[in-house]
Amino acid sequence: MSILDSVVIGAGQAGLSASFHLTRLGIEHVVLDADDEPGGAWRHRWDALTMRDVHGVAELPGDAPPPRDGQRANIAVPAYFAAYEKAHRLPVVRPVRVDRVEDDGGILVVHAGDRQWRTRTVVNATGTWTHPFLPHYPGMETFVGEQLHTVDYPGPRHFVGKRVAVIGGGASAVQFLGALAPLTETLWITRHEPVWRDDDFTPEAGAAAVALVEQRVARGLPPQSVVSVTGLMLRPQEREAERLGAYAARRPMFERIEPDGLRWADGTFERVDAILWATGFRPAIGHLAPLHLRSAAGGVQLDRNGRGTTAVADPRIQLVGYGPSASTIGANRAGRSAAKGVQRALSTASVRSP
Ligand SMILES: Cc1cc2nc3c(=O)[nH]c(=O)nc-3n(C[C@H](O)[C@H](O)[C@H](O)COP(=O)(O)OP(=O)(O)OC[C@H]3O[C@@H](n4cnc5c(N)ncnc54)[C@H](O)[C@@H]3O)c2cc1C
Repeated sequence: MSILDSVVIGAGQAGLSASFHLTRLGIEHVVLDADDEPGGAWRHRWDALTMRDVHGVAELPGDAPPPRDGQRANIAVPAYFAAYEKAHRLPVVRPVRVDRVEDDGGILVVHAGDRQWRTRTVVNATGTWTHPFLPHYPGMETFVGEQLHTVDYPGPRHFVGKRVAVIGGGASAVQFLGALAPLTETLWITRHEPVWRDDDFTPEAGAAAVALVEQRVARGLPPQSVVSVTGLMLRPQEREAERLGAYAARRPMFERIEPDGLRWADGTFERVDAILWATGFRPAIGHLAPLHLRSAAGGVQLDRNGRGTTAVADPRIQLVGYGPSASTIGANRAGRSAAKGVQRALSTASVRSP
C-alpha cells in the first residue's frame, strides 16, 4: 500500500483550510470526512439558526465569506463548503469515520472500519460537535420529561407550552433563552455567575480571549472554548427575552433531578417539563488515543506556547480547530500553520523514511 505524505481527518472549516494550504505546498494528501456531504458541523445546526444569528462565519482561504442573510446556516454554509471543495479540487473522501490512528514502525496508519490509509503525517480537524458534553446529576435517569443537548435542539416551537430549564453559561444557552422566552416559560441555570460584556467586541478583546485558551494549551491543559472566555453579550434577537426577565432570574446549579423537576440543596424545587443541556462540547480526538498525545494535565500540548498546531508529543501530528483555533477564523489560520508543520515534519529524515 502506498504511503501518503499527509491525511487530514475532518472536512469542516479547519480541515478544508488545511487541505487548501497542503495543496498549495504540493503535499500529497487526502481528507477523510465522516459526514455524507460537505458542511462539517454546520450541516447539523438547528433549522431556526440563520446566517444573521451566527456569530460570524469567516471566509475560507482565498474566498469571500458566505453571505450574512436570512438563509438557514445549515444550508448556506454546507453549500459554501461544497462549492469551495469543488473549486479547489480538494481530495475529500466521504463518508469515512476514522476510528483510530496507530503508529506502525514510524508510519501512521489511519483506520476506518476495515479500510486504512498509511501516511507520514496527520492533520486532525475533527472539531467538537460529535463529542457533546453532558454532565451527570443524581436522579437524571428518573426525569419523566424531555432532556436534550444542544446537538438535539429542535428549535423553539417544539417547546411551546412546556416549562424549560436551560442549563449552561455559554453563548448557546443565551441564544436558546433568547428564542424560547418570548414563546414559553424558561428557567436559566448556570454553575457560575455569568460574565457579561457590554463593550464593543473589538479584535483586541478577541485576541485577548484567544490568548487565554493558548495559555492552557501551552501547558497541556484541556482547552476551554474560545467563546467561554470572551464573555456574554445580548444581541438584538435576545432583547425581548431580556425584557421578559429570562436572564435576570438565573439560578445556581441544583443538587438533584427528580421525576418532574429540579431540587436544590436548600430544599427548593422547580417543576420543569424539559431540560435543555447547553453544556458544550469536548474535542473529538478519541481516535488519536493510541498515539498517547495527551499530557498528564489531560489536554494535548501544542507548540509555540499554544499558538502553533503541532503536538509537542509527536511533531507528525497537527491539531487544527482545537483550543485557540476552535472558531472559523482560528481554524483558517490553523490550517495554514498545520500545512507548514506538515512540511517541517516531512523534511526530517526520520519521517521521510522511517
Ligand atoms: C452551536 C455552535 C455555534 C457556533 N457558531 C460559531 C460562529 O458563529 N462562528 C464561529 O467562528 N464559530 C462558531 N462555532 C464554533 C465552531 O464549532 C467552529 O468555528 C468551526 O465551525 C469548527 O470547525 P471545525 O472544522 O474545527 O469542525 P467541524 O465543523 O465540526 O468539522 C469537523 C468535521 O470532522 C468530521 N469528523 C469528526 N470526527 C471524525 C472522524 N472520527 N473521522 C472522520 N471525520 C470526522 C465531521 O464529520 C466534520 O465534518 C460554533 C459552535 C457551536 C457548537
